[in-house]
Amino acid sequence: MHNNGDPQQKKFRIALVFPPAMHPSSPPLGIASLKGHLGAEEGLVVRNFDLNLAYYETAFEWLRDGRLRMSIQGMDHDTTARKAGAARDFLRGHAEPGAFFEQARYDAHAGVYTGFESVLNGLFDNFSRKMLLGLPVPPLARRFFECIIEPVRAFKPDLIGFSILFSQQLFFGLGLAGLCRGTGAKIVFGGATFSVMPDPGGLLAGPVRVFAGKDQHELDAGALMDFMIVGEGEAGLGSLVENLASGEGVFAGVPGLIRRGDRGLESEPPQAIANLNDLAAPDFSDFPLDRYHSPVRVLPYLASRGCPWRRCAFCTHQKTYLDYREEWPERTAERLWKLAREYGTSHFCLVDEMIQPHRLDRISSCLLAAGVEIFFSAYAKPSGFTRPILQRAYRSGLRVLMWGLESASQRVLDLMRKGTKAVRAGEILEASSLAGIWNLLFVIFGFPTETEEEWRETVEFLDARSGEIDALSKSRYVLLHGSDMFCDPAQYGISKVMDRPRRDPVSIAYDYETETGLSQDEVTVEFEKLLPRLSGIGRSPYFGQFREHMLLFAAKEKGKAGRAEVRESVPEDAETGSEESALPDDE
Ligand code: SF4
Repeated sequence: MHNNGDPQQKKFRIALVFPPAMHPSSPPLGIASLKGHLGAEEGLVVRNFDLNLAYYETAFEWLRDGRLRMSIQGMDHDTTARKAGAARDFLRGHAEPGAFFEQARYDAHAGVYTGFESVLNGLFDNFSRKMLLGLPVPPLARRFFECIIEPVRAFKPDLIGFSILFSQQLFFGLGLAGLCRGTGAKIVFGGATFSVMPDPGGLLAGPVRVFAGKDQHELDAGALMDFMIVGEGEAGLGSLVENLASGEGVFAGVPGLIRRGDRGLESEPPQAIANLNDLAAPDFSDFPLDRYHSPVRVLPYLASRGCPWRRCAFCTHQKTYLDYREEWPERTAERLWKLAREYGTSHFCLVDEMIQPHRLDRISSCLLAAGVEIFFSAYAKPSGFTRPILQRAYRSGLRVLMWGLESASQRVLDLMRKGTKAVRAGEILEASSLAGIWNLLFVIFGFPTETEEEWRETVEFLDARSGEIDALSKSRYVLLHGSDMFCDPAQYGISKVMDRPRRDPVSIAYDYETETGLSQDEVTVEFEKLLPRLSGIGRSPYFGQFREHMLLFAAKEKGKAGRAEVRESVPEDAETGSEESALPDDE
């Protein structure tokens, strides 16, 4: 469609970039989905670059050869280099067979790895900011960034798309974009981070406040990008590419597009993909799948968009998408099977915001009916799950459920509008555990108006259920712009909302005051005190971050023998089976 069938016409080249910095345990889904969507178009060449992985790999290489010198956890440089390198190799499964699954050894290496990455990422985020602001940085820091962006420049793209999933990627992305200015490529930024920002266009409108170290500066971030896309990338990027490739230069109607036009900032409303079943499968073919920091390939997969509940008062995830849509369960089973065969893996993380019991059950039934042998994890809310649903999910390969428990105080849960019962949540965790599924719990401490007694209720719940909790992801409550609580703070007992003095342009966190319950400062202090106790709950304090690793442990311990072979006999017409015929009648 773009070159009108003329083979002589130059193809339009698109580089999709996933910037640092987060531990690279699995490949990035966002740009894989975009490549799947755009890749089949005639006249386009789409290449994905996981610069997050490249950043980690380069850092470990430079650490080893001495170009990068760091000291962590009281160790000198040589010891840091040796131990961090050994931790990376261990997490990639390069130790002797089975060593990865020795819990104490895993924890020791994961501890060094997380210590290393937190110092590394702080250091290079600061270098990136300074480079953007024109402040002095060590020559090696600039060379480091030049080194990781070079493959993108060598590809000679017409368009470079930076995918910003998490806010900590922004300055890395902008810094790398700055190194691509002058290549002639247009630059577009997109990703979930912008979709939850109250005013994403503000980044393009004029100078934004940026901190480098202790000092405040101004940065014209808009000069580093030609476009921003908010909302789902498939609709916006597809339309933008069509526009650029045809040379039309008319941007009206490109979904979610924001740009600096002749008359100031121009923006178009975002658009949701109406039917997820029409989307192509994600394309992971550009990623070096055996270099991720996991001993077994684990692929992410998204089978729905948005959240079917979308009522939790503290949440902004639900706002990332315009509405909730889901793929047919038969399609999900078929896609997982195809991805398993294509990429030689049997481990998947379903990254849907929240899977409902009946939907999990239908997906499980389809996987079982089609004979697809995989292991997978999913996110859920502890309500509505029954023993048969959990047992069938286990049989279909579900090994980890990541539950948004949030609190064990019923008053707090009700105030959150979580739609769960604390007592029932405990029973569901027990049933899940008995079914053989490992439970990861998300818990929030210090919800506005929460009292010491209610806080204790949650701690006591965690203690009492510790046998059924395999991992814990604990956090302090943060008031986020865009959440329902931000829109109507008084309804949640928040008497005052205050801006933060050191706000980065993408930060959506605010300070607040309450008239009852623990104050924000008390929450900070009490939470710090509680952390050592909470760290003892679960099999590993690192599973909350390394969720792919948790899936591997869970699949190994109670799973089908070894790594599952994907059966050749899955019928091609799995997607066409009716929902009814796919449901088993064994209850
Ligand atoms: S916290 Fe989870 S269940 Fe609640 S609205 Fe957000 S995504 Fe949905």
